[in-house]
Amino acid sequence: MSGSRKFFVGGNWKMNGDKAAIDGIVDFMKKGPLNPNTEVVVGCPQCYLSYTREKLPAEIGVAAQNCYKVAKGAFTGEISPAMVKDCGCEWVILGHSERRNVFNEPDQLISEKVGHALEAGLKVIPCIGEKLDERESNRTEEVVFAQMKALVPNISDWSRVVIAYEPVWAIGTGKTASPEQAQDVHAKLRQWLTENVSAEVAESCRIIYGGSVSPSNCAELAKMGDIDGFLVGGASLKPDFVTIINARG
Ligand code: PEP
Repeated sequence: MSGSRKFFVGGNWKMNGDKAAIDGIVDFMKKGPLNPNTEVVVGCPQCYLSYTREKLPAEIGVAAQNCYKVAKGAFTGEISPAMVKDCGCEWVILGHSERRNVFNEPDQLISEKVGHALEAGLKVIPCIGEKLDERESNRTEEVVFAQMKALVPNISDWSRVVIAYEPVWAIGTGKTASPEQAQDVHAKLRQWLTENVSAEVAESCRIIYGGSVSPSNCAELAKMGDIDGFLVGGASLKPDFVTIINARG
């Protein structure tokens, strides 16, 4: 039952903001009030990880938006999970659709990143989701199950994983999956976890929805039994984020 899974709302600032903008976000998040039954994490640009961590109250998690699959070395431009931790942060978002589709990250690399981030002690939000043409050709299940299958061998601790289902056609487009469309995929993913991992993981793992979540659609989405929260892009930069955090009432 969804009751045993704590509602989870992540923000993804993407490549937006500066220190002044972060100060504004911190202000509205501190003001809240935020439902204490919701776990909240914000994903910020890597150069602001320490700044954001220092400014936000400890109960709000801070995530990197990416990190590499090894601890250190000659990988110019990359950061490691150890560095994310050293900045005081506990979380990382991996395999976001922009990493997959703008930077061409394949399933195997994302899986290895997830594996190393978990080994290094981070909590991980791996993202999956189908593109518009895949949905229109009835391939949604095939695509998201293949993305899950690639992740599983590297997941050593499911208690530190929150799966984000984000249909690519809904990200940043203003087009949200209907509550029924999202619930349908979430339920199928949970069934897939039962069959391919364990009933216990299927029951306990949070599966959050992302794709143009807003104050006007969050309450209906939050009512669905297999939607355990949200990953929020654009709206996480605005006070709207507080409404979304409190979507489950
Ligand atoms: C995202 O960045 O993961 C996302 C869902 O963006 P938006 O909410 O803007 O669609």
